[in-house]
Formats: sequence, structure tokens, C-alpha cells
Amino acid sequence: PASRLEGVDKNVWVEFSALAAKHKAVNVGQGFPDFSPPNHVKEALKNVGTMSTNDMIHQYTRGFGHPKLVDTLSKMFSPLFGVNIDPNKEVLVTVGAYGSLFCSIHAFIEEGDEVIIIEPFFDCYQPMVKVAGGTCRFIPLRPNSPKKGNYATSSDWTLDPDELESMFTKKTKAIILNTPNNPLGKVFTRDELQMIADLCVKYDCLCISDEVYEWLLYDHHEHVRIGSLPGMWDRTITIGSAGKTFSVTGWKIGWAMGSANLIRHLQTVWQNSTYACPTPIQEAVAVGFEEEISRLGEEHSYFKELPRELKAKRDKIVKTLTEIGMMPIIPDGGYFMVADASNMSKTKVLFIQSVLGINTRALLWLFVVQRCF
Ligand code: PMP
Ligand code: GLN
Repeated sequence: PASRLEGVDKNVWVEFSALAAKHKAVNVGQGFPDFSPPNHVKEALKNVGTMSTNDMIHQYTRGFGHPKLVDTLSKMFSPLFGVNIDPNKEVLVTVGAYGSLFCSIHAFIEEGDEVIIIEPFFDCYQPMVKVAGGTCRFIPLRPNSPKKGNYATSSDWTLDPDELESMFTKKTKAIILNTPNNPLGKVFTRDELQMIADLCVKYDCLCISDEVYEWLLYDHHEHVRIGSLPGMWDRTITIGSAGKTFSVTGWKIGWAMGSANLIRHLQTVWQNSTYACPTPIQEAVAVGFEEEISRLGEEHSYFKELPRELKAKRDKIVKTLTEIGMMPIIPDGGYFMVADASNMSKTKVLFIQSVLGINTRALLWLFVVQRCF
């Protein structure tokens, strides 16, 4: 094998999924819903498959994104960024958000570059940066004590601005941000994002913003797009996922958005690797977005319905974990929950471990619960 693969051969999801299958355990490790996607999205795919008026839908479409999908993404996101997004030059559709992360990292990171990653983080950032030749510099979110009498929430975890600034060097090419964060559920506030944005401007650095959970916000939390802050559109690549947006993770459609000067380099990686995504799936995602655009802000908008449903499940799991002696950190957004199991007796931990069939390392350190929530 090529030497660049050294040290990236192990993968947590490959390990988790194989173990879950082997022990017939509920897979609480991988982020996919166990409930049905919205009817209008399922219908959209069914209609695409049987569309007799347009058989070309079964052939290759435009490589950088199916025209109807990039147009719809531009219509959906232009007002949210306060920018008139050029569907052909400022959007790239990829195989999942993974594809956009890969294209962003390989378009900009090379030998000698440093990339700042905020911990805890979605695992693939590190191997992608490594394979591209870059070096990761990690900075943790640190816990503050929760307000007296309250549960700890993901908002209690913050970055120290001085510590963050000390991570920037002449070699820093990019910072990877993930809000809402996987796995903590932290939703970065406008002030926190402004602090990060100011550092990106000061040190002339790129921001790769993974926002796949952008619609999954609980309580009063607001999703702020760092690419919409003054001066940030030109230095931010914002990544989204149809899988997470419409609870169709198996569709594996994602996108990257940003100024044409950035996206054209992602397009170079894409055209020389995968080239195009499946046409029918892109058409169905576009139809799904069109429907949502027409009901934006209304109570039956899926972007309101989904967090409403998941919040009830989140609260149920918080209650259950607390009852069995764990200390959950209440997520303000996203699919995941982290709980501290250090207060539990070893016997209890081992019992839960055997019931859930989860490997010891994962359970003792963090307890990541999702799927049922
Ligand atoms: N980023 C984060 C933070 C995720 O949690 C996931 C999915 N688990 C992805 C990216 C990848 O999304 P997709 O399935 O669209 O490739
Ligand atoms: N569990 C991952 C997530 O949702 C999914 C990773 C994967 O599909 N490889 O965070």
C-alpha cells in the first residue's frame, strides 16, 4: 500500500458496525434514524423512479451537481447566508458530507500545513488531513460547571479564546468547525463563532464548517452559519448533508458551498475522483427542498418537526441514563449524547455493556447514545 495510508487503516464505524452485527446488538454508534423519512421525500424518490416523461433522469447528470438540485440549494441557502449563491460556481454536490469534507481537505491541505480541530470531533477529519499530508492541531472544548441544580449541557463546554489563538501559526491553513457538534451536541453561539471568525481573518486561514446537523436544534438554540458573518463567505466552506436534513442517510448526498474561488478547487478534486452523484437521488432531494422552501417557518416544516420529535426522545434518554447512574450532558443540537459513566459501579457498567454489546474502550470513556433519540 501507499505509505500515506499508514496509521489510517482502523476505522471506528467499521469496528462498531461489525461488532453490533456480530452480537446482534442495537448499534448506538452510528448516526442514522430508526424512524421513517418524511412522506414527501419518500414520494419524491418513488416519483422519480417511475417518471416516464423524462427517461434521461436515469443517465449521468452535470458532474458538479444536478442542475435542479444546485438551483434549489441556492434558493434555499442564499437568504440564510445573505449572499446570492451562484448555483454553478458556488455549490458542489458530493457523495455525502464525507465527499465534501474530502474535497475541501484535499483541495487545500498539503505537506507542511496545519489544521486546527476542535475536540471532541467527528472522527474522519483527522485521517483525511493526515492522508493529505497535513498535521492536526487539537484544541479541546472544556467543561465549565453547570449552573447549580441543573444538568450539564453542551453549552457548558467552551473554547478558551487565548488557547485557541495560541494554536494559530504561520503554517495554519484551516480550522475545522462542526456546529451542532458531533458528538457533544454543542451549538456554537454567535459570539463564539465571531471569535473564531476574527482569528480566521487575523491569521488568514480557511474555515471548513461541517453543518450537517444545521436543522437539529433543541430548546431556544439558534444555528448561526459562520459563513454568513462579515468577511467570512470568502474564506468558509460550509458543508451540508441531505442524509441528515431529511433523515435519509442511505441516500449519501452532501454539498459544499462557498465563494467561487474556493469551490472551484473542490470541483477539481471532485472531477478527478468521483465526477458525479446519482441523478435520481439528486432530483428527489431537490423536490424535497422545494417542498420545504414552500413551508419554511411553518409548524409542519420538517425542519421544525424533526427537532420537536428528537427533543422528546432526548429528554427520555436523559431521564433513563440519570436513573441508572450516568451523568448525561444534554445536547443542544444534533443526533448524539455523551454521558459520564464514572459514577457508576463497575458491575453496572459491565452489565450495560453486555446488554448493549458495546466495546469496553468506548463505554468507559464516553457513552455515546443516539439512534433511539
Ligand atoms: N459530518 C458529521 C459531523 C457527521 O456526523 C456525519 C455523519 N455521521 C457526516 C459529516 C457525514 O455525513 P454523510 O452521511 O452525508 O456523508
Ligand atoms: N456514526 C457516524 C455519524 O453519524 C456515521 C459514520 C459513518 O457512516 N461512517 O456520526
